[in-house]
Order: sequence, then C-alpha cells, then structure tokens
Amino acid sequence: MNYFSTRDKSLKFSFKDIFLRGLAPGGGLFLPAEIKKYNQKELNNLSQLNYNELATEIIFNFCSDEIKKKELSSLIQKSYSSFKDKEVVNLKKIGEIDLLELYHGPTLAFKDIAMQVIGNMYDYLEVAKDKTVNVVVATSGDTGSAAIAALSNRKNINLFILHPHNKISNIQRKIMTTIGGANIYNIAIEGSFDDCQKIVKELFNEDSFRLKINMSGVNSINWARIVCQIVYYFYSFFRLKKNKISFSVPTGNFGDIYAGYVAKKMGLPINKLIVATNKNDILQRVINTGEYKPDTVKSTITPSMDIQVASNFERLLYYILDESDSKVGSLMNDLSSKSLFNLEKKEIDKIKKDFEAVKITDEETVSIIDEIYKEHKFIIDPHTATGVGAAKNFKNLRDIVVLGTAHPYKFNDTIKKAIGKNLDSPKHLKLNIDKKETFDIIGNSNSEVKNYILAKIK
Ligand SMILES: *Cc1c(COP(=O)(O)O)cnc(C)c1O
Repeated sequence: MNYFSTRDKSLKFSFKDIFLRGLAPGGGLFLPAEIKKYNQKELNNLSQLNYNELATEIIFNFCSDEIKKKELSSLIQKSYSSFKDKEVVNLKKIGEIDLLELYHGPTLAFKDIAMQVIGNMYDYLEVAKDKTVNVVVATSGDTGSAAIAALSNRKNINLFILHPHNKISNIQRKIMTTIGGANIYNIAIEGSFDDCQKIVKELFNEDSFRLKINMSGVNSINWARIVCQIVYYFYSFFRLKKNKISFSVPTGNFGDIYAGYVAKKMGLPINKLIVATNKNDILQRVINTGEYKPDTVKSTITPSMDIQVASNFERLLYYILDESDSKVGSLMNDLSSKSLFNLEKKEIDKIKKDFEAVKITDEETVSIIDEIYKEHKFIIDPHTATGVGAAKNFKNLRDIVVLGTAHPYKFNDTIKKAIGKNLDSPKHLKLNIDKKETFDIIGNSNSEVKNYILAKIK
C-alpha cells in the first residue's frame, strides 16, 4: 500500500519511507492510500483474539508490503514481553468509569505501546544496516523516555531528544536522563515543547541537513505510532461488549485520539471521541468555534499536554476538507503567515459528528484526582484525570472509556498535593532515580541544535 502527503496527493511513499522520514517533504503528514474497513463478520472474528493477535491483524493492514505477517506477529510478541500485563493494556471499572490503563510498559506511559514496536521495526526494516541513523525527537515528557527504552543500545542508531527545559515533571526527566546508553543525547531546550517540535520539523524540512545526518523521527506524527495505537480502541470495544462506545482522551498533539478516528474509519462502532485538553486549549477552541490559533504555551500540571500546535490535527483536516490536499496546504499556509486559520460552519459540523472537546483546568484536575481517591481508593495521574473530567460532561453518551495515559507515579508531586500521599515506584519501573543525570541545556534555535548534533556524531 502506498502513502501520500496531506499537502500533496501526487507523492507516493512506501511504509518503510514514511517510517523512516516521519514528516513528508514540504511539511505535510503521511496518510495511507486506503484504510481497511471491517465488516461485521470480520469484527466478530477480531473480537476473539488476544491483544498481540489483534495488534498483528490491525497493524498488518498498514505494512503488509514490507513485513510478513508471521514476522510481524513475533515482532509484536517481543515488543510487549516487557509489559507488566500479558494483555498489554488493562480495562478496569472504577465506580462508573471504564478506565483503559495504557501505562504498564517500561516507562509507565501509553507511548511505550507504540514505541516498543517501532524500536523493533528499526531493526526489522534494516534502516540502520549500513549507515547510522540519527533519530531526532521532541518530547513533552513521555515520548523521550519511551524512545530511549525502545532504542537505546541498538546498533547504528543515535537518539537526540529535545525536551523543554524545566517544563516536564522531575520523574519524567529522571527517567530520560538516568537511563544512559552510549547512543542517547538528552537536550534541554530553553523554550516550550512547541519550540522543540518546531525545531525538529524544520530540521526535517532542511534536506541537506536531513540527508547529511541520515535523520529519522519517532514523534507522534510518525504514522507507525498511530497505527499501533489503533489497536487498543478495538481491544476495549471487544472487551466491553456494548453496541457502541465513546472514548475520552487526554490530548496534546492529537495523535492518540486520531488513532481512535482511524479505528472508527475501519468500522469500529465509536460514537464520540472526546478531546480532553488543559489550559492549552487550542483543540477545544477549534472544535467548538472553528478558529485554530496557537497561543503561547502555558505550563500546567499535565505537562505532556502543554502543546499549542497539535500537529496530527492536519490529518483530520484532510478528511474534513473532502480529501483536498490543496485546501490543507492553503490552511497550513495561513497558519504560518497569519498564525491562525478558520474553518467554515459546515466543516465544524463535520468534526462535531465524531468529536467533542472540553477544557479542564488544573484546579479541576486536582479535585478529580482527590475525588476518585476518596471514593474508590484508586489513584489516577493528572492527564488521565482530565479525561475523567471531560467524560463527566457527557453522561448522556453512557459507555465512555477513559484512556489512562500515564502511571500516577510519574507525577508524584501533583499526586502528593492532591491526596497528601507519596507514591512508591512501581516494581516494573527499572529506574535508579539517584543515578547521575546527563543532559545538556542549549538555546532555542535550529543552528544550536544542528551544531550540537554535528559535534556529537563527528
Ligand atoms: C503524550 C501524552 C498525552 C497526549 O497524547 P497526544 O497523542 O500527544 O495527544 C497525554 N497524556 C500523556 C501522559 C502523554 O504522555
């Protein structure tokens, strides 16, 4: 199957191309030429599978030209062998809430679910066989550690991770900066996550630099990550056994929830996808008013959602704008020249068929954590709490699964404030927090990052 760019449908790429590049030439995002739609009988068959089997079936649709099914199956088994749960994820009932715990991987965040598979795909696709690949990635806190856990000590791969200096939680930072590995470079950028993401995107668009360092990316704009995340939408639907369900998703870069949108396109009976945002509410504003206007990033207690430029939203726009690459391109031009774009009423209506969006403030987040703890003796992390808070606005939807995106231990300080209790480190986190941290602080500029990378790979 071929892939194209949201801004140029005439371009054609293989799965391996898009896997390696992450971002399309000219700045667009990759989408597959076809999306498999399952019929009822096929859905019934899928519902009988365990997590790994289901993942194999779903992911295979998107990479069958390059990976044999049998090999994909063993790649997936291997990827999830380090997870605490044999079934990878865990659907739990907390009072009225159906919580899908996605944080039982090596770095306690849902990002592990895609990243572990991606790490093994780097080997399988032999992208670094003859020449070192330099993976450059921006993180709002969790992608970085998940990428390290997936890629450290792989042959011919270096990993450069840009995180916003002083804007992620202490434990998030420590998980990244104490793991070590000769091929890992942690860079604290004096700026926000949006600045980090902008630098990485611009470096990708600078062909001479990209080719010079054989650059690759594993940010949430990498289509392979979205594909791996589609699986748990199916899985929870099959386990809940309802006719139709909705999902509430703590959202930053619009990657995780976009996987839900693709699941719906594939025939999964999803009613609504609820975007939960924090004060950085650009997605809430665009979905409810049509105006997409990045504001300055505000720091919150849900740092992994402190994002104002939600890159994967472009992938939704492509379908909302009747699959017109030129319309997507023109909105993206507006965004870069006027710092905003506006959607028409009929486009907003189209989005609202599938999505709802709610902003949850830090104060609300803290009281949700407190409330859940008091009522159910169960601790949720702040990101997950925004999902719980957003879901509460839609009681009429009834069966709503909230995606639990991180383990509360990663946000120990906030949990302590909310419930007055310190959390112990979960057993499956192999982390020695007291180890020396290694990272370099550098300025918010493309040239400084480029010089840093070039000096390290010399
Ligand atoms: C990355 C992250 C999110 C946001 O996911 P997106 O795919 O960027 O929308 C939410 N919660 C946590 C804990 C995360 O790490």
